[in-house]
Amino acid sequence: MPLTVHQFPCLQDNYGFLVRDAASGLAACIDTPDAGAILRELGRLDWKLALILNTHWHPDHAGGNAELQAATGAQAVGPAEVTRIAALDRDVGGGDQVMLGETRFEVIETGGHTLGHIAYYDAADRIAFVGDTLFALGCGRLFEGAPDQMWASLQRLAGLPDETRVYCAHEYTAANARFALSVDDDPAVKARAAEVFAARERGEPTVPTTIGLEKATNPFLRAPLLAERVGAPREPAYEAFAAVRAAKDGFKG
Ligand code: ZN
Ligand code: FE
Repeated sequence: MPLTVHQFPCLQDNYGFLVRDAASGLAACIDTPDAGAILRELGRLDWKLALILNTHWHPDHAGGNAELQAATGAQAVGPAEVTRIAALDRDVGGGDQVMLGETRFEVIETGGHTLGHIAYYDAADRIAFVGDTLFALGCGRLFEGAPDQMWASLQRLAGLPDETRVYCAHEYTAANARFALSVDDDPAVKARAAEVFAARERGEPTVPTTIGLEKATNPFLRAPLLAERVGAPREPAYEAFAAVRAAKDGFKG
């Protein structure tokens, strides 16, 4: 396992992620929700921050860039939209690759939550950092993109190997599970919701998840199967997705 992931809660419901490439000893953070918290964790681990990998421009993802760049000299890499709030050393988009020592991250275009949103996929370790695109039992709100764009982004992530560990940027899973139960009677969804509620009662994170688990239980990935339930046609698939997204936006659970 050449890449080590250190996950810790930040702000209200974000997760901070630090990763370290074993071969080089270099570390990166995925997004910068809270520079102070990230610096504390770096100090505790005695890791050296070489890279900041941003998924999108929102302040709870790029708001700590400047402070971390100044404190560590790390290079900031992300989609060009990040320059709305922070300086980047390199802008990247779908198909680009970013190296951290010997670890290679492929950039996957995942627009929809924001137009330029990207994910980072380490194929050798089967690890994906997906920002606010795919959540455990959920997906990001469509602040800038349209349903067909978000559906295409989710399909790109769903195409990764089932065992891929998926690191989502927020702990929203209990609320997502309540919504999932309202639109999906599948036994796998009920079983997973029960596990999620129990894990949260014990104070445990529900992140990371896996692509296989999300394909089996996430109502947004299962949208075409739930089309009737949410009053949408089965085809095109993104219309069923749009209807599930709208139902979640209006859900008071
Ligand atoms: Zn966001
Ligand atoms: Fe966020």
